[in-house]
Amino acid sequence: MSNGLVSGIETLVGEMTRWRHDIHAHPETAFEERRTAALVAGLLKDFGCEVHTGLAKTGVVGVLKNGDGPAVALRADMDALHVVEQTGLTYASTHLGKMHACGHDGHSAMLLGAAKYLSATRAFKGTVVFIFQPAEEGEGGARVMVEEGLFKRFPVDGVYGLHNWPGLDVGAFAVKAGPMMAAYDSFNATVIGHGAHGGMPHLGVDPVVVAAQVISAWQSISSRMLDPFDAVVISVTQVHAGDAYNVIPDRVEMKGALRSFDVNVRDRAWAHMETLGQGIAMGYGARFKLELQETYPATINSVREAENAALAAAQVVGENNVQRAPAPSMGAEDFAYMLQDRPGCYAWLGNGPGESGCTLHNSHYDFNDAALAYGASYWVRLVENLLKA
Ligand SMILES: [Zn+2]
Ligand SMILES: [Zn+2]
Repeated sequence: MSNGLVSGIETLVGEMTRWRHDIHAHPETAFEERRTAALVAGLLKDFGCEVHTGLAKTGVVGVLKNGDGPAVALRADMDALHVVEQTGLTYASTHLGKMHACGHDGHSAMLLGAAKYLSATRAFKGTVVFIFQPAEEGEGGARVMVEEGLFKRFPVDGVYGLHNWPGLDVGAFAVKAGPMMAAYDSFNATVIGHGAHGGMPHLGVDPVVVAAQVISAWQSISSRMLDPFDAVVISVTQVHAGDAYNVIPDRVEMKGALRSFDVNVRDRAWAHMETLGQGIAMGYGARFKLELQETYPATINSVREAENAALAAAQVVGENNVQRAPAPSMGAEDFAYMLQDRPGCYAWLGNGPGESGCTLHNSHYDFNDAALAYGASYWVRLVENLLKA
């Protein structure tokens, strides 16, 4: 097998770009990706794949079988975000308040390109399962697909995911065994005091002062209570209390997220949050409640599959353009659920400099079309390596 972009992939770049811009102009959010799913299903059928719809509501699975052999699953996500697009692009969102600000339009287009290529060339022996999942952004579409029997209906030896990565050059990949993305757990905290006149605080218990100290104290968990090598981020992202200038409220509601890579570290951080909250509240005569919702587990690549991914990437862009020990990200990814069910690997594809707001979830972000040929070539190499003809 020769190195570089897969030969003939250039002829698909125009088409992949059109699909990408079409999906970009019509963004759909969690479990409502009906138009996108119909587009994907129609194309997969045209290519000659067996198509299954309705998994996790809007999920689409395409199966391409070419003789007997192993089976591999490739996954793209289809959903957009609740962001008001500000790119001014000709193909900008026509759905107000929704935007493809995470590049899932590009992920879908690249996997469609690979499906078209592999359907036409069939230089492999075995089965490719193309997974187009809904609701990656916070709603766990991958978890729902797995729970609805994704890998029981479509058994595979491994599952692979690819995400564009601003800040990594176009034509570069980053991948490694072990954790790539953090676990994400959301929390609700309440401080219950006793409301009073703003000028007579001694007649009440001010929950705002207590909440302020709890928020500050939590920031010393990672710096003073956990091993510095145990990565944890605690962010209080919402604080709600009070309605007036001159009234001390009864309670403060706080929400936020705890991010980590290791369940034991997460549990220790969680226990410290509880103890600090209870202790500080008690000292002031207030009460404290904390609830944690497990949201996404950490995305952890298995060793052999990470090696398979790095090899395929190196065949496309050369070993020098594959970072094999990237620092993991504290962002989260629901591909983690697929990795809990099957061995597999999640890799990053260079999207170019993350400048001028071209960062994930920013209203000025746009997937880089120059990356389409690299991503599609990576998928093809991976399949042709794993399902040797
Ligand atoms: Zn995202
Ligand atoms: Zn994403």
